[in-house]
Amino acid sequence: MYDRIYNFSAGPSMLPVAVLEKSRDELMNYQGSGMSVMEMSHRSKVYDVIIKEAEALLREVMNIPDNYKVLFLQGGASMQFASVPMNLLKTGVADYIVTGQFSGKAYKEAQKYSDKINLAATTKEENFTRIPRQEELKLTPNADYVHICFNNTIFGTKWDYIPDTGDVPLVADMSSCILSEPVDVSRFGLIYAGAQKNVAPAGLTIVIVREDLLRDDLPAYVPTVASYKVMAENESMYNTPPCWPIYICKLVLEWIKEIGGLDAMKAMNEKKAKILYDCLDSSKLFKNPVVPNCRSMMNATFRAEDDEINAKFVKEATANGMQNLKGHRSVGGMRASIYNAMPYEGVEKLVDFIKKFEAENI
Ligand SMILES: *Cc1c(COP(=O)(O)O)cnc(C)c1O
Repeated sequence: MYDRIYNFSAGPSMLPVAVLEKSRDELMNYQGSGMSVMEMSHRSKVYDVIIKEAEALLREVMNIPDNYKVLFLQGGASMQFASVPMNLLKTGVADYIVTGQFSGKAYKEAQKYSDKINLAATTKEENFTRIPRQEELKLTPNADYVHICFNNTIFGTKWDYIPDTGDVPLVADMSSCILSEPVDVSRFGLIYAGAQKNVAPAGLTIVIVREDLLRDDLPAYVPTVASYKVMAENESMYNTPPCWPIYICKLVLEWIKEIGGLDAMKAMNEKKAKILYDCLDSSKLFKNPVVPNCRSMMNATFRAEDDEINAKFVKEATANGMQNLKGHRSVGGMRASIYNAMPYEGVEKLVDFIKKFEAENI
């Protein structure tokens, strides 16, 4: 009814129509306040309810234990590549597992803060087509933390297990899989995620951090706004938080709750991913290169050997209302990002199109 296309972008990406409609309905005069959420003071009573509800809903939906703080920050996941080492390095030793581009960037950024950052494992030699097994991880006893990227947005892989790091805090970038399925938060010291894939528009970064990792003895160079402790003590309001994305985050969480929470979300996501991967597995034209148990439920890559065919596919898909299917330039081919807000019908349409295209081009 709105002439919307199916947007397979890796991010920013689709938001649920119900959320867009609700935000539209509340746009001009939010609940009798006489103004839009975009125009409100973050210190007003009416906004305070919004941010508190967003946090309470996130805690409820993700089942976040009480000894964790939830922070609503700015700067994107890329800022966390720096904030994590700035806040968590004590001895200077940290282990990084590099499974793709973003974990590679995080690893590189951490080296600005210490020359004792270890590469505990990488699957670079295999073009990042899988996640290393537990026994391949060369973890350092007593490291300050271990960093992983839980879902690799560009290469379309996902950790199919939570690595055992003993007493060393596990830090995970969950930008492209947060809220896609239940996770046991208690297994992590810190989880962070840029919001623009599964949570809200760009501009919000969520950090979920175990309280014992908050410190006030940070190096003097650490910006105040980058201190988890300061942000936690000020309930994410040391300075102006990203008010609008936090509001949309609240609406998205209400939508997830209405659907039945993360168990229901997971079932829907599995169903979508299954029809797409089944289609690719039976395709004679396209291939998904990822080791099956490491396949991402959110980002599926596929390509034909002939790059002209890939370009033709993207062009024709676009003309048929399926946009942003071009793969990341470092991988080539196609990538379909099928986050929470992508309806089943969108994936079904893509699968039908793949079959039709294949029949015409083989
Ligand atoms: C998109 C993405 C990032 C980068 O996020 P920004 O908010 O643009 O900094 C980092 N990590 C992962 C896993 C991502 O998907």
